[in-house]
Amino acid sequence: MREPSSRGPLSSQSNRDDDNSKLFYSKRNKDNETRTEKEKRQDYLYEIEEAKRKRNIKEYEEEQRKKKKEEEEEQRKKKKEQRKPRFVRGLQDEVFEHIDKKNGESASGEKLVCWSFENFHQKRKFCAATREKFFEYYSILNENERHHYEIIRDNEPCHLYFDLEFDRDANADVDGVKSTDALLDLIKEELYEKHNVTIALNKHVVELESIITESNVASIEQAKEISKKSKKFSRHVIVRLPGAAFKSNIHVGKFVKDFWNSVCERRASDERCEKLFIRKEQSETERQYSIIDLGVYTRNRAFRLFLSSKAKKKEVLQCTRRFWTHREERDIFYRSLVTNIDKEQSKNLIEYHNVTVPLSQMSNGCANIFSGHGYRRDSLSQNPTKQKELPCAELVEFVLNDFDSWSDAKMNKAAVRSWVAFPDHDTLILNLVGNRYCENIKRQHKSNNVMLILDFQRGVYHQKCHDPDCKGMNPQLRELPVNMLQRAIINGRALPFEREEPKCESDDEEFWQSAASAAERLW
Ligand SMILES: [Zn+2]
Repeated sequence: MREPSSRGPLSSQSNRDDDNSKLFYSKRNKDNETRTEKEKRQDYLYEIEEAKRKRNIKEYEEEQRKKKKEEEEEQRKKKKEQRKPRFVRGLQDEVFEHIDKKNGESASGEKLVCWSFENFHQKRKFCAATREKFFEYYSILNENERHHYEIIRDNEPCHLYFDLEFDRDANADVDGVKSTDALLDLIKEELYEKHNVTIALNKHVVELESIITESNVASIEQAKEISKKSKKFSRHVIVRLPGAAFKSNIHVGKFVKDFWNSVCERRASDERCEKLFIRKEQSETERQYSIIDLGVYTRNRAFRLFLSSKAKKKEVLQCTRRFWTHREERDIFYRSLVTNIDKEQSKNLIEYHNVTVPLSQMSNGCANIFSGHGYRRDSLSQNPTKQKELPCAELVEFVLNDFDSWSDAKMNKAAVRSWVAFPDHDTLILNLVGNRYCENIKRQHKSNNVMLILDFQRGVYHQKCHDPDCKGMNPQLRELPVNMLQRAIINGRALPFEREEPKCESDDEEFWQSAASAAERLW
């Protein structure tokens, strides 16, 4: 037996191997018994070293992977954070309140303004942001995520703006582009004659067109081709007066409605005026409606933004580049905002004196008001012609029945004494006889009649009354059946149930009071 420590021939042999490569030696699986203790220990130490080395590599790699993942996550978060701006959101009135408070606190700096967004369910949300911050956010959204609107607030200065639209099928003989040109020509004259303002189309007019720009559309030409075929001609025209603006969109409405009246008068003598008339339905032979949507000059109107589409729709507002234009989307965006007024313009605001009561313009307008007298349910079958005169007879029938049932009418059933419809405001007012139940006093009035107000924007109706003591009453809103709403048409105009308007005229005490008494005056 050899001493384990002594160096025998075998040992020296193994040592030589050892010198060449420890790894080589151990991997050969040399019989353990032929190896010395020292060799074994060396193998052992080596294996530990090797394991350590491997572990270190693994750890390092793991670390790198983790680091990369974290970085990616960080990037993603950053991007998301950018996309999800910390705008104050809420109901329209809450957002208004926040904006007024903040803008009141700091006299300098960019002001907060109100924007709205239409989600997939076509419900409106509101937020407050400066124009700069909003665009930062808006510009990184995908095309199909942009359903945004500028809120043209009550009493806020704004530019002259038009929403032009018609159904192409019903107006095969109307060339929308030529009509727009005729309109601008006439508006140029009107502005000069009335306000001594001279506009240049290539400087002061921005024209946006609602067109399909799907990603699967190969070229702009193709998109234009599709847009030509799309059912609706729809454009926004924004006219920025040099060194002037309108005091609010109600005043813009006054200017436009006066203009439209003069167009109606000159129709026979001026061929440009003739070009502004359209049909609403294919069945109509005469073109008797305005290409200008006269209903967009209401309080707190939402106006669709450049690069936005309506929810669930593909047509996006793009700049036609026919008049003022710019390479940068940012510049077009700013330029197309209706309430983006510069200092110079804000010093010179156009206003009219008789515009506070919206009705005064409406009854002067060309077919903005539509009214009638008398409607009894029992005469329905006997007098079909009368029935025809009342718009939405089906809905009226429904609300009368509904009113009788919740007011628990026993003797006198409700009937319509007079009614007045405001297609531009999506409101129908019924002055009742028979049932005089008032929700405010929870019983019948002795002499005053009550009224029902049908609000087609929200698809609800409520009761109001003529008694001065009931002024400011807070009536319950009751739903109108959706299927009936979809069939509701007033004066040839399908009513936009939950379409565009975030705030309803019928919330305005003054509005319904004057509207209801107008119905009485007219008959
Ligand atoms: Zn009352």
